[in-house]
Amino acid sequence: MAILNNRLTPEEYAENFSDIHPPFDKKEAALVEANRCLFCYDAPCMKSCPTSIDVPKFIKQITTENIKGSAHTIFQSNIFGGGCSRVCPVEKLCEGSCVYNLMHEDPIPIAKLQRYATDKAIKEKWQLFERKPSTGKKVAIVGAGPAGLSCAHVLSREGIDVTVFEKESKGGGLMTYGIAAYKVTPEFCQDEVDFITSLGGIAIEYNKELGKDLSLAELRVQYDAVFLGIGVGLARQLQIPGEELEGVVDAIEFIYNLRSKTFNQIAVGDKVAVIGLGMTAIDAATQAKRLGASEVTIVYRRTQDEMPCTQVELDLAKLDGCNIKWLAAPKEVIGANGKVSALVCREMELGVPDASGRRSPVDTGKSFSLAVDMIIKAAGQMPFKELVDGSDLQNSNGKIVVKNNDTNIDGVFAGGDCVNGGKEVVDAVQAGKDGAAAILSYLKLNKVDAKTVNGVEHTIVAS
Ligand code: SF4
Repeated sequence: MAILNNRLTPEEYAENFSDIHPPFDKKEAALVEANRCLFCYDAPCMKSCPTSIDVPKFIKQITTENIKGSAHTIFQSNIFGGGCSRVCPVEKLCEGSCVYNLMHEDPIPIAKLQRYATDKAIKEKWQLFERKPSTGKKVAIVGAGPAGLSCAHVLSREGIDVTVFEKESKGGGLMTYGIAAYKVTPEFCQDEVDFITSLGGIAIEYNKELGKDLSLAELRVQYDAVFLGIGVGLARQLQIPGEELEGVVDAIEFIYNLRSKTFNQIAVGDKVAVIGLGMTAIDAATQAKRLGASEVTIVYRRTQDEMPCTQVELDLAKLDGCNIKWLAAPKEVIGANGKVSALVCREMELGVPDASGRRSPVDTGKSFSLAVDMIIKAAGQMPFKELVDGSDLQNSNGKIVVKNNDTNIDGVFAGGDCVNGGKEVVDAVQAGKDGAAAILSYLKLNKVDAKTVNGVEHTIVAS
């Protein structure tokens, strides 16, 4: 695989990886947009947010220049409200539900307004919450990603001492290691983790991996309860000949490298194929192009009607010059001297709908070949099956089975991607809140409804 060191100038890298959704540059611009909000009584924007952020309330607070109150409203429901304002697929969530769409007008830029309030709070290190007096209880959380830290923040506010064990050297999980660099920077991710832990009562122990440095059985003995927010890890394998050749890489590994190295140190091919069409595939494809690949082709085995990414994401890939091969499935990787030289694909067609109504791709028997020197696998991620099997947790193909976040092991709870197999960051945040509610109930501290656990008043500054 060609290593395109210094293919682009530092200025070009900086431009290609600059903030894709720049914030409001003037207070007046934010006020104009906030004042367009109709403050709908039934707020469909709020209903479509997995963490139920009170959107009309936080926008109203912006109109009165109560930015502290606005940030508090957001963080009360979603402590990752800053990161989510950058990475949420808002076109299919809050902004997609805004009533302005019905009037064929631009929806309220909810994410940009959310960023307006939360950026200020994080930058100025506002203390918006306080902890209740200590309960004497302690909880271990495995994974410092959105699920784990969301759970930690709720529990700490309730007076519980939380220790988070994280296998990486930084917190933030998927937000820090798995999302395109032009959406959210490593510096912001660090600031966000610091903001969350500044509440107190949350200690993060880095470079501690479950199954290697610690065991579930030990944690269960040492703590009053355990929450697992370990996410998903390995890329789904293609299971086709030639997959082991040099130049075939996992999308998550590719994106991870981008987040932890300087741009001119990232190995990228000249002609790249990306397998899959989820948001991770789009992130990998657009970043390969922005790193200097001359040709990027996304291979997807169904049609546009079934694609897992949003139209906005697809448009982004197309604007970056990525090609899309619809109805194409990888069949073989061809190599030369141990390195990738081509990807052979079969042409597919959609068959009859299955029980869920989804039409499955069927092989037509025809093939075509793409000349490539790099293949990025982004056809989904696999749960940590071996790890989960080894800990006696009931699971379904590696996904931890829970009932109200409660696993089959007494005092052990789980939530987020390790349970659902991989959803959005905002879903993981809600899963962390749900897990915290279940733990509070288990510890007989506060029997609250999972959906309202962050509705408990903790305000110390809201004016
Ligand atoms: Fe405001 Fe749109 Fe939400 Fe109505 S749906 S409250 S207009 S953001």
